[in-house]
Amino acid sequence: MGWERTLVFVAGASPQVITETVWALCQRRPVPRTKIFVLTTTSGRDHIERALLSRGGAWAALRREYPAARQFDFGAKQVLLLPGPNQHPLEDVRSDADSVAAGNFILDFVRSYTAPGYPPLHASIAGGRKTMGYLLGTAMMLYGRVDDRLSHVLVRPAALEGTDFFFPPRKRQLVQVVAPSGTAVEVPVKDISIDLAELPFPRLRLLQETGELPSGNFSELVQRLQHRLGQYVRPNIQIDVTQQRLICGGEAIRVSPLRIGIYAILAKRRRTHPAGTTCQGCSLCFLPASEIPGAFRAELSGLMRHMKSVAVGKDWGERNFRPEVSKLNAQLQQKLGSASAPYEVQIRGQKGQRLYGISASPELLTILGLPTVGGNVAKKEGAIV
Ligand SMILES: [Zn+2]
Repeated sequence: MGWERTLVFVAGASPQVITETVWALCQRRPVPRTKIFVLTTTSGRDHIERALLSRGGAWAALRREYPAARQFDFGAKQVLLLPGPNQHPLEDVRSDADSVAAGNFILDFVRSYTAPGYPPLHASIAGGRKTMGYLLGTAMMLYGRVDDRLSHVLVRPAALEGTDFFFPPRKRQLVQVVAPSGTAVEVPVKDISIDLAELPFPRLRLLQETGELPSGNFSELVQRLQHRLGQYVRPNIQIDVTQQRLICGGEAIRVSPLRIGIYAILAKRRRTHPAGTTCQGCSLCFLPASEIPGAFRAELSGLMRHMKSVAVGKDWGERNFRPEVSKLNAQLQQKLGSASAPYEVQIRGQKGQRLYGISASPELLTILGLPTVGGNVAKKEGAIV
């Protein structure tokens, strides 16, 4: 990669945050080789070029006065322009459509620079419009890894706010800056402090499967993760026998008739244990292996006949049941990723005394289209709620 840390800013009209942050990072040792990127608008770029990167600009001055700042690689090529809704660079983030386009760009940037193998990403939400800081912070929540950081920079005294102050000079005692009103302000260097406030953030990366997400769509990704959180927190399951599908937390998964049959019968059993809400799986709500060749096989066989599907013969037993369960669980894992556990068929106990069942709470299981078994299999019972 050639560098040991990536530092990213969303900067607008205040390129000061870049030198202030770099100055603060130089006070921490060791100083890793850092590559800086700035995501900004065309007006932000103009500010940066004029104030920092021009001849005699603050960037060169910082590197001259503080050799540690030479560990930071920054130049015009690393100033990336946020595209607008029509893909032309934005001059400012004004409309809703601008912020959607900017958000997707920021999201793509963070996704790329947090890919496996990339050095730690340090994102600064100082500078830029509030929307941009929010978007960067949210992108970090969605993609940030354990070593990635989010920070803000705080400069004191307040007299320096909005001025053309860039970093505390090394040799002088007094800083002379121009306030937004145009008046000159003098601040003693000893009174200046620049702090990096580290902002804790949850890392939701674990909720996503790498590669499953469409590129560059912020709201879609947020919606998807929201959905996935629901699957973790409240894993409701609809077992639709007629349509041969499981709807797990809103996600429909088509399964074979045999597997939907197995799942429906296990779900029905789970619902029969009154204490099931707290039960983790006993021989009442889970199926003991010993019952597979008997009552369970008979019920499954009846259901398959009713569905005009495969025959479940007299010698059908646990060795036929097991691979179906494994394949069903694999299907759930493929579709739901790390959220699949509460939906999977659980296997408990020692060999010879195994119990099979669904651990989701009984009231979260809805079975549709399971016929009454025994005698009249053709009569549909409808939803068991
Ligand atoms: Zn139980």
